[in-house]
Amino acid sequence: MTQTPKYVYYFGPEGTEGNASMVNLLGGKGANLAEMAGHPDLRLPVPAGFTITTEVCTYFMQHGGQYPPSLKEQVEEALRKVEKAMGMKFGDPENPLLVSCRSGARRSMPGMMETVLNVGLCSKTIPGLIKKTNNPRFVYDAYRRLIMMYSDVVMEKAEGIEPPEGMGIRVQLERMMEELKHKKGYEKDTDLTAEDLQQLCEAFKAKVKEVLGKPFPDDPFEQLWGGIAAVFKSWNGKRAVAYRRIEGIPDDWGTACNVQSMVFGNMGDTSATGVAFTRNPATGENQFYGEWLPNAQGEDVVAGIRTPNPLNKATKTEQNKHLPSLEEAMPEIYQQLLDIRNRLERHYKDMQDIEFTIQEGKLYMLQCRVGKRTGTAALNIAMDMLKEGLIDEETAVLRVAPKQLDELLHPIVDPNAEKKATTIASGLPAGPGGACGQIVFTSEDAVEWTKKGKKVILVREETNPEDVEGMRAAVGILTARGGMTSHAALVARGWGKCCIVGAGKIKVDPVKKSMTVNGKTYKEGDWITLNGTRGFVYEGQLPLIDATENPRLKEFMALVEKYRKLGVRTNADTPADAKIAREFGAEGIGLFRTEHMFYGEGSDEPLFILRKMILSRTAEERRKALDELFPFMKRDIKGTLEAMNGLPVTIRLLDPPLHEFVPQDEEKQAELAKAMGISVEDVKRRGEELHETNPMMGHRGVRLGITYPEITETQVRAIFEATAELIKEGKDPRPEIMVPVTCDVKELDITKQIVDRVHAEVEKKFGVKIEYLYGTMIEIPRACLLADKMARTAQFFSFGTNDLTQMGFGFSRDDIGGFLPDYLEKRILMADPFQTIDQEGIGQLIEMAVRKGRATRSDLKIGICGEQGGDPDSVEFCFKVGMNYVSCSPYRVPIARLAAAQASIKASRKN
Ligand code: PEP
Ligand code: MG
Repeated sequence: MTQTPKYVYYFGPEGTEGNASMVNLLGGKGANLAEMAGHPDLRLPVPAGFTITTEVCTYFMQHGGQYPPSLKEQVEEALRKVEKAMGMKFGDPENPLLVSCRSGARRSMPGMMETVLNVGLCSKTIPGLIKKTNNPRFVYDAYRRLIMMYSDVVMEKAEGIEPPEGMGIRVQLERMMEELKHKKGYEKDTDLTAEDLQQLCEAFKAKVKEVLGKPFPDDPFEQLWGGIAAVFKSWNGKRAVAYRRIEGIPDDWGTACNVQSMVFGNMGDTSATGVAFTRNPATGENQFYGEWLPNAQGEDVVAGIRTPNPLNKATKTEQNKHLPSLEEAMPEIYQQLLDIRNRLERHYKDMQDIEFTIQEGKLYMLQCRVGKRTGTAALNIAMDMLKEGLIDEETAVLRVAPKQLDELLHPIVDPNAEKKATTIASGLPAGPGGACGQIVFTSEDAVEWTKKGKKVILVREETNPEDVEGMRAAVGILTARGGMTSHAALVARGWGKCCIVGAGKIKVDPVKKSMTVNGKTYKEGDWITLNGTRGFVYEGQLPLIDATENPRLKEFMALVEKYRKLGVRTNADTPADAKIAREFGAEGIGLFRTEHMFYGEGSDEPLFILRKMILSRTAEERRKALDELFPFMKRDIKGTLEAMNGLPVTIRLLDPPLHEFVPQDEEKQAELAKAMGISVEDVKRRGEELHETNPMMGHRGVRLGITYPEITETQVRAIFEATAELIKEGKDPRPEIMVPVTCDVKELDITKQIVDRVHAEVEKKFGVKIEYLYGTMIEIPRACLLADKMARTAQFFSFGTNDLTQMGFGFSRDDIGGFLPDYLEKRILMADPFQTIDQEGIGQLIEMAVRKGRATRSDLKIGICGEQGGDPDSVEFCFKVGMNYVSCSPYRVPIARLAAAQASIKASRKN
C-alpha cells in the first residue's frame, strides 16, 4: 500500500511537525518557523500556522495549476489545529481567524515573490471582528489592505494580466485613497476614519469589478485558495525569474507557501511591529540592532513610508534619535525580545534576522533566518563567535564568503547611496571595488587629465595594449565590448583596479569624445561612478567608502592557513605586483607573462625594439633586434625572480601573435620606418601581412618559437642569466620555464633542445649550477587528450583555462560580450565559463589531462593560471581534481586562499 505523501506541516505551540533541517521541503521561512515554534530550546511565541511544501509547488507547475489529490484534506486538517491553538475559527462570524499566505523558497529571495495578508475578512466575518476588537477603524483598514493586496497579487498578477504603466489595479486603488484624503483635507492615512474606510472598501470593490471584470471574493475559503495559488504562481513571476538568473537558483526548486494566523501590530498604542538583527549586519558588532514602528503593520516598515524608531540605544542615528526606542517605550517587551535574541543566537550559532509583532502588549515572532551581512560584518562575527565559543575554527573559516574579502581590500561605492541611484548600464564585473571619475575617451587624455590632478574613468569601445598607460592612470575603466578575460579585464584585475567590460548598451564615439546610453549622451568630463564588483554604471558622483582595514583580517587569514592544502600562487609580471601578491600570501608566481614588459610605464624602448624585431625580414636582422632586447628581458625577469626570492616563478615564453605589437598610428609608424631605414608603406604592408582577425588561434605561443627559434633562445638566455646572476649574489631564484599554447609533445621537445643548449652555455659562462623546471601550459583540447605524452617532456602543467575555454567552446574570448548574455538569459549556460570553470564540459578535459599526465609522471606538478584560478567555485574544483596550486591576480590571492581552505574543510566533513 502506498502512503499518501505529506504535503502540509503544522507549526504552533504544540505538535509542530517540521524543523530547521527541512529547508528543501519547507523553504527557509517554513523550516525556521517550525524550529522556533517546536524546538525544546526555543518554543518561541509563533502564531500558529502550516507550511505547504515546495513539492506542491512543483506539482502545481507540472500539472497546469492542479493540486495533488489529498492536499485539500491536509490543509483543512492543519487549519483545524491552527484554529484550536489560536482559539478562533476561520470564516466564523463571531470569532474569526485571519491568516496570511506567504512564499518562502529554499534560499531567501527577498521581495521577489508574493504575500497576501488579512485573508478571511468578508461581509460574514467583519461584524464579528468589529464586535470582538471594538475597533471598527482597525477592521476596515485591514479590509482595505486585503482588497488592495489581493486584487493586485491574486486577481491581476497571478492571472498574468499586465496592465499598462500606471493602470495596475493597486495603483488605481491607491489613487482613489489619495483622492479621498485630498477631498477630506487629510494628510496621513491614519487621518481616515472608520466611516471613510468603510466607504472606501465599497468603492474599491466596485473598482475591482469594473477593472478586472470579476467581483472581489467574499468567501473566506475562496480567498484562502486564491492566496495559496498566487504564492505558487509567483515562483514564475518576472521578478522571481530574473532574480534566480542572477543568483543561479534552479527553476525546479519551487517555493513553499506558509499559511499563518494573523497578529496585528496596528491595533493601537500597545501594538507595534519591527525588524531586527541579532548583531549589527553592517559592522558585525555584538549588539542587538533593529527598528520598530508603533501601531503599524509589517509592510509599513518595509515600504519605508514612515521613519522607523530605533530598537534601543545602540540603534539610534541622526534620523531617528528623536523617536522613542522600544527599550524606552515598552521595556518589558524589549527584555523579552532581548532574551529571545540571546536564545536564538545560542541555538543557531549565527547572526539572525528576525521579524516580530506586538499585538496589544503580547510579543509574537513572525520570522527568523540567517542574516545577510557585509564582508566586514561577516569577518567580525565569525571571529567574535569563535572567541565566544559559539563556533569552532572550521565553522569560522566557512562563515566568510570568499568574494566578501573583496570588500575588505578595495574602496567600495557607498551601499546606501547606491540603493538610491539609478543604473545607466551594466556589464561584466571585471575589476573589483568602486570608482568615481570624469569620463575620457583616449588613453592619452587619461594620462594628461590625471597629471592635472583629476580623477578619470577611461571609456573605450574595447582596449588594446596601447591603452595600458591610460588604464593605469585612470581610477576606473569601462568598455562596451570584451569578456572577463579580455585584455582590459586581465590587466585591471591584476592591478586591483575597478573595471567593467562588455557594457553593450554603451555606444562610444571616440572621435566626438562622447558616449550614448539609452538615448542620452555623455561628454568628456561628465562624471560617472562604477561598481566593478557588481558591474553597475551610475550617472554622477556617488560617494565611495574606504573598506576599513580590519586588523582581524590577519587573524582570520592565519586561521585559513591552518586548513588550506591547495597551493596559491599569483599571476604577476612586474616586481611591484609580485611584491603585493607576496604580501597577500602568494606562494610563488604561476604565470609571468613575458610580453607585459612591452606594455605600460617604461615600455617605450623595449616596445620599439620589439617592433623592429617583428618587422625584420631576415633571421640576422631579427637576431640583432633580439640582442638589443635581451638586457630588458633579463632586467624584468631578474627583478621578479628577486622579489619572489626562494619561491617558484613560472615564466612563460612569448605568447601573443606579433601583429598585436605593430603600431597603428602614423606618427609611430614613421618613427619606426626611419629607424629601420624603410618606408612607412613597408611598415604598413608588414603590419597588414601579420594581421590576424581570428580569435587568437594564429601565429602565437609556441608556434612563434617554432618559426623563429631565436626568440625562444633569447628569452631562455635572459631567464638563465638572470638566475645565474642572482645565485652569484647569494639569492635563491627558482625559475620554471613554461611553453604556451602547445598541442603536441614534439613542440615541447624541439623547444627543449634550445633550452638544454642555452642552459649548458649559461652554466658554463657563470660557473654555477642552475636548477629549473620545464613545463607547459595546457590550453588546447588536443593537449588534454594527449596529456600522457605531453608529460613525457613536461615536468609541470599549468591549465590556461582562458584559452582552453575559448577553444573548447569555440567562443572567442574577446567577443563573448555580444552573445553571452543571451546564453545566460536562455539558461543555455548557468554561468560565464570565462569567470568560473565549466565543470561539466571543460572540467572533463581538465580531469582527463590530470589523470593522463600523472599516469606518465606521478610527481607532475599541476596548477591553473587562467582567470578562473581566483574564482571560489573553480578553486574548489581544482582542489577536487588534485591540482597542486591555483594562480590568480594579486588582489584575488586572499580570496583563493580562503576558497582553498573551505574546499579542504568541506571535503573532510564529507568523509
Ligand atoms: C590562459 O589562456 O588561460 C592564460 C593564462 O593565458 P593568456 O590569458 O595570456 O592567454
Ligand atoms: Mg593563454
